[in-house]
Amino acid sequence: MAIETIQQRFSDRLKTRRSEHLYRQRPLAFGPQQPQMQINGLCCINFCSNDYLGLANHPQIKQRLIAALQNDDISYGSGAAHLVTGHHLEHHLLEDELADWLGVERVLLFSTGFMANLAVLETFAQKGDVILGDKLNHASLVDGALHSEAEFKRYPHGDMTALEKRLQQAQAKEQQAVIVTDGVFSMDGDLAPLPEIQELARKYHAWLIIDDAHGFGALGQEGKGTLNHFNLETDCNTLQIGTLGKAFGCSGAFVAGSETAIEALIQFARPYIYTTASPQLNAVAVRQALRLVKSADKERRHLQELIQQFRQGAQQIGLKLWSSPTAIQPVMLGASETAMRWSEELKQKGFWVAAIRPPTVPQNQARLRITFSASHTVEEVDALLQALDEIHRQESSAKV
Ligand code: PMP
Repeated sequence: MAIETIQQRFSDRLKTRRSEHLYRQRPLAFGPQQPQMQINGLCCINFCSNDYLGLANHPQIKQRLIAALQNDDISYGSGAAHLVTGHHLEHHLLEDELADWLGVERVLLFSTGFMANLAVLETFAQKGDVILGDKLNHASLVDGALHSEAEFKRYPHGDMTALEKRLQQAQAKEQQAVIVTDGVFSMDGDLAPLPEIQELARKYHAWLIIDDAHGFGALGQEGKGTLNHFNLETDCNTLQIGTLGKAFGCSGAFVAGSETAIEALIQFARPYIYTTASPQLNAVAVRQALRLVKSADKERRHLQELIQQFRQGAQQIGLKLWSSPTAIQPVMLGASETAMRWSEELKQKGFWVAAIRPPTVPQNQARLRITFSASHTVEEVDALLQALDEIHRQESSAKV
C-alpha cells in the first residue's frame, strides 16, 4: 500500500466535492435559536431547524436553568460516565418522567441520538440475526447496523411486500429478525407505515426498533410520537428512540423499552458504558421541556396549520412536494446545483433554507428541506411562499 500524506489523500477528493456542488459548509449562527436569526452575518428567517415546538429558546427553560445554577445542588458537567459517578438525580428523575409519559417500563438517557442508535443496534442485533432496515433510514441506524455483527438487509422505502419477503426468508433460515425504521423520515418527512410494520413484526416474531427523532414532541397526544399518532401500543419487543435536540429544544436522546431491554443496554452497550454522562444541567432543561411538550397541544395545532398553509400555497405555485404530513417539507429540485441556487436565492431574500444533496439523499433527488416550527407565524410562511414563487417564475422563464 502506498504511503501518502493526508494532503495527498484528501485534496483531490475535496476538489471533486466542490466541483460537484456537494461541498458542505457550516453556517455561523449568531444569537439564540429562533425563527429570526443572524446566520453568516445575514438577518433572516430560519426555515431549517428541527426546533418544532419553539422550545430551544423558551423563557421557562432558561429560567429553570438559571434557578438550578443558583442552587448549590447542581453543577454544569456530569464529571464521569453514568456507571461511574456521572448519573445524577436529575438524570434519574428525567428517565422516570419520560417513562411515565410514554407508558413504558423504563427509559435510558444517551448524550446523542446517533450514539443511542449505535448502542441499540450493536447490542440487540447479534451474530446470526438479520437487521431489516428501510432504505431511507437515518445514517446513524445504517452505521449501527453495519457495526453490529448481524446480517444487514435493506428494503425499499415503505415497501411492506418487500419487508414481508425478507421476514419470510429470515423465518426459513431461523434467524431472529430485527426491523428498524425511522418513525418520521428525516429528509422526506413522511411517516413509516407503523400499523403494517407492527403487524408484520408480531406475525414473524421480529423485534421492532423505531427511531422517532422527528416524531416525539411533534406528533401524537401530548407529543407521544408516531406510534401514538397511529393509536398503537408499544410492547416488550419494541424499542423507541427519541432525540432531545429537536422538538425538546435541548440536546441528547433516550431509548424507551422494557426493563430487560434497558438493563441490557446498561450492561452491554459500549456507546453507553464508555462515555461521559450528558451535563446535569441538560437534564434539568429537558425535565422542563418535557412539561412544555406535554402541554403543547396548541403549538402542535398551530404547527399543523402552518404545514397545511405551506402545502396549499406551494402546490398553487407548482412546486414539487413530497407526501409529507409533518413539519419536514421537502421541495424536490433534482440537481444539486439547482438546489444550491434556490437556497442561495432564498438567502438573498432573507430566508435560510438548507439545500440537501447526495449522499444525504439519493442521486438526482437534491431538494430544499423546509422545516416548520410552532414559533413561525402565518405571515412568515406567506413571505416564504412569495419568495419561492418569485424564484420559481424566474427559473421557469430562464428555461424558456
Ligand atoms: N435519528 C434521526 C432520524 C435524526 O434525524 C437524527 C439527527 N439528525 C438522529 C437520529 C441523531 O440524533 P442526534 O442529533 O441527537 O445525534
